[in-house]
Amino acid sequence: MLCSLCRERAIVSQRYLGRQLCQDHFVQDFEERMAKTIVVNGMIEKGERIAVAVSGGKDSTALLFALARAFAGRDVELVAVTVDEGIAGYRDDTILAAERIARQLKVEQMIVSFREEYGYDLDEMVVGKRVAPCTYCGVFRKNALNCAAKRLGASKLATGHNQDDEAQSVMMNYLKGDMERLMRFRPRREQPGLVPRIKPLRDIPEKEIALYAMVNGVYFESRECPYAQLSLRADVRDMMNRMESLFPGTRQRTLQGFERIEDLCKEGWAQMELAECGECGEPCVGERCKACELLGRLRG
Ligand code: SF4
Repeated sequence: MLCSLCRERAIVSQRYLGRQLCQDHFVQDFEERMAKTIVVNGMIEKGERIAVAVSGGKDSTALLFALARAFAGRDVELVAVTVDEGIAGYRDDTILAAERIARQLKVEQMIVSFREEYGYDLDEMVVGKRVAPCTYCGVFRKNALNCAAKRLGASKLATGHNQDDEAQSVMMNYLKGDMERLMRFRPRREQPGLVPRIKPLRDIPEKEIALYAMVNGVYFESRECPYAQLSLRADVRDMMNRMESLFPGTRQRTLQGFERIEDLCKEGWAQMELAECGECGEPCVGERCKACELLGRLRG
């Protein structure tokens, strides 16, 4: 298999684009695609302090590495935020990996834990509960990241979501018929109290992010979270992977279709005004944020 651009040995086949790339062209293409996503969507401006959510997994590690390279010597500051959810046998290794990459890139890092922030590890929260662990995890992690980004004085919060994650999220909302959540998926304007989130890798497939981390020597093979298989996302991921291998470009077209729907709906679907949670002051829909609601249930 030869590179479609230079005839060197190719290391990746991008079937959805009908081409293969060698290592040099792949790295160059990866960084250009991320830069295009950032510029076209006005994600990062000069003088900003960007909090990067770094779990230690391949996506967030690759994100921190690529951002550090893209903004080296430029007027943009990166800080890393790592959330320790408290998942035995899974998180410890990834936290060490997150510390390693932050140290390697000389990026300041803040580690926050569910135990310190909410009084429980995720493992404790989910014992005997009928709600899927990912529901607790997602709500508290979002809350912890927003609070940490504010404490760090960050103007944006960057996450390592990739094209697979994005297409899965859109598909999950279709399957649940949840139009409100679907329309909130890519907020159109800033909301008070909420550090704007950016996803610089959202147009790049997961496999290519892993390859980018590998060729740059920052890949860390982590185990899958023990709760992952209990989620709807796991089924949607398997389905989307099957579709992508049968019909290359499925994920890209799913996202393009969503963007058209979003464009058509934006007039009639005004972005919701967020209120302040009556208990913790974090932004929320209604009077009480999801994190306080779940904490209330945990405390009985
Ligand atoms: Fe949290 Fe679910 Fe992800 Fe595990 S799979 S880290 S429980 S969101």
